[in-house]
Amino acid sequence: MKIVTIPCLQDNFAYLLICTKTQQAAVVDPSEAAPVINEIERQGVKLTTILNTHHHWDHVGGNQDLNTKYPQLLIFGHESDRDRIPGQTEFLKSGDEVHFGEQRGTFLYNPGHTSGALTYVFDKTAFTGDTLFAAGCGRLFEGTPAQMHDSLNIQIGGLADETELYFGHEYTEANLRFALSVESGNEDIQKKIKAVSALRSSGKFSTPTTLAEERLTNPFMRCNSTEIQACVKSKEPQHNLAEQEVFRTLRELKNNF
Ligand code: ZN
Ligand code: FE
Repeated sequence: MKIVTIPCLQDNFAYLLICTKTQQAAVVDPSEAAPVINEIERQGVKLTTILNTHHHWDHVGGNQDLNTKYPQLLIFGHESDRDRIPGQTEFLKSGDEVHFGEQRGTFLYNPGHTSGALTYVFDKTAFTGDTLFAAGCGRLFEGTPAQMHDSLNIQIGGLADETELYFGHEYTEANLRFALSVESGNEDIQKKIKAVSALRSSGKFSTPTTLAEERLTNPFMRCNSTEIQACVKSKEPQHNLAEQEVFRTLRELKNNF
């Protein structure tokens, strides 16, 4: 499977997944149709499938126009996003597979950012939408801190270290600045800030990251770091340091960063 990153809108990423055996393709989170159509034509592939990670407009905005241009697409989303994802035809529930061309994948159910959020997994690559960003996570619009903690640390955290994580927005530099503010002694964050700044100033994107890198640099996956716990304790002395409490406080600090 070949993966092509397609920048959309201000800072969104859609991803074109190409089955190199059949030249059939799926697109993850088409924010808008035009850049996706350009890439499909450039690659000379046949679009058969849309994989939506959640219902927000900046992830499904291109569904309708793509479905008009390429009729009879299979459009995947969580079963609970029925009536929220335009044109949805496949309603994923626990145990279901996703597929296009000769590729077979699975999904993780990741409530937190929204109640129907998914991560799509194909072998050692995962598409996390707005659940996990490099060095960050999505805002809690429809879920609790405990749900998001579980989605990141247990669900996505259960994948192999070398898994490549393709995320929904180019927020990495701002996320790393926040990460450093709560864990200033973390050298992996300091290194990544330099690496990402070099990438961005040469016009490249910071996607994908890897799970191994996130375990080292993402504060939302580091709730048992003693430095992060000390930082949280200094801001909210009345709270205990249970992982989920640390997570909740971090998310609030990030909202106001
Ligand atoms: Zn979203
Ligand atoms: Fe988004």
